[in-house]
Amino acid sequence: MPFPSRWSRRSFLGALSTITGGLLAPDHLKAASMLSPKRKRPVDGDPIVPIESGLGSTGDIYAELGITPLVNINGTLTVIGGSVMRPEVMELIRQGNQHCVSIDELEIAAGKFIAKICRSPTGYTGLVTGGAAAALTVGYAGMMTEDLNPRLRTIPDVSGFPRTEVIIQKSHRYAFDHQIRQTGATLVEVETREEMIAAINPKTVAIHFTNILSDQGQVSGPETVAIAKAHNLYTFNDAAADVPPKERLWEYPGLGFDLVAFSGGKDIRGPQASGVLIGREELIRYALLNMSPQEDRVGRCCKVGKETIFGLLKALELFVNQDLDEDTRMYDARARVITDAVTKFGVTALPRQYNPQALGNVTPYYSWRIAPRLGLTGADVMQKLAETRPLAIGARSAGASGLRGRDPEGASEPKPAPKPHTKKYSDDDPESGPNDFGFPLWQLKEGEDKLIADRLAEIFSEARKG
Ligand SMILES: *Cc1c(COP(=O)(O)O)cnc(C)c1O
Repeated sequence: MPFPSRWSRRSFLGALSTITGGLLAPDHLKAASMLSPKRKRPVDGDPIVPIESGLGSTGDIYAELGITPLVNINGTLTVIGGSVMRPEVMELIRQGNQHCVSIDELEIAAGKFIAKICRSPTGYTGLVTGGAAAALTVGYAGMMTEDLNPRLRTIPDVSGFPRTEVIIQKSHRYAFDHQIRQTGATLVEVETREEMIAAINPKTVAIHFTNILSDQGQVSGPETVAIAKAHNLYTFNDAAADVPPKERLWEYPGLGFDLVAFSGGKDIRGPQASGVLIGREELIRYALLNMSPQEDRVGRCCKVGKETIFGLLKALELFVNQDLDEDTRMYDARARVITDAVTKFGVTALPRQYNPQALGNVTPYYSWRIAPRLGLTGADVMQKLAETRPLAIGARSAGASGLRGRDPEGASEPKPAPKPHTKKYSDDDPESGPNDFGFPLWQLKEGEDKLIADRLAEIFSEARKG
């Protein structure tokens, strides 16, 4: 067998061992057993190694680039990088990266795996997308193009397409409907059930449902599905941030929504730029036809690489096996670490806020009340935590959705700073006052509860002196 000239025998053996799962590569076995003494199976391909030179060789890539790493007490926000992936997810990304593979083949297999672990209804499958936002684009594109070549190429120019109107409740309009509009679809706003039915016409393709805004609209999810089915329309439920509880992964498709999107980079803790689209097989196929790796498509920019697909699958598997009660006990323990450190300064723990039935961001929220004599408001404390270095605790500007553009007609003075991120938690707590501060604790890594506790003790100890 002729070798390409740049190949040495060693690299050939290396390649062979990669193919055969490392059986011919004693070096790999050694490296693997060094990394994980309990590992029984050989590592396929290259294990993760320490970096000896250049970028990353100090072990502190953040310092090397001169940027501030954050302890996440804000939530799974894209502006601060969402969440941190588990080691098993990183390992599966490493394993998946050992070969090239047909992305379409991988996506179809991934879809079946997703449908299985997410207990999707018969006839449903999954798709890994480049985020929930990307799922909206490729999902809606698919509804309009189906598998028809001329349409796949011309979208977002949808002139001549038979069905291009998407009905949406006025209260369900949100920042992400841009991803529906970018397909060329036209949004038709309605408020009541009657208006929804009256808006249906031969150009209507679907009814959109923004799950997190369910309580703002007059038409419920099940009613939306019923109306759509009666008129032969598709339905799309954007439930991006609405797990946990994990049961929603099967409840929403089970309600009859044709497509349901979840973000992979939020509480599922997959790759930050990943999403899961669960839906009817035919629609999922149309969606895949509209996205990368296919070319000359509206969703070519919604690329997911094999690493993203593998990482998402592992994260999702871990997520559906998580026990929310057990996790909550762990978050409670973290809160106790903090409470124990601050009580002596006159800072008391308030009752945990936790509504397992909330529409999104269903995680326990912990807060504390500062004795007035310390002369600090809750906002002061959050500010000081965010100013902590070298590891900042939270980010005060995390409520902003990233860089903002310039208004050419606008006044010359800068816009007021965005309000700090305060999800909906405080609405549930009418008692919450200016001397209170709080945050969710689920995103913390091992030891970060102690770090927060120590820093708070420092802040309160300084306040007492001052
Ligand atoms: C976060 C979010 C999205 C976007 O999800 P990505 O995975 O970041 O693309 C879409 N819709 C809603 C309701 C969200 O909360």
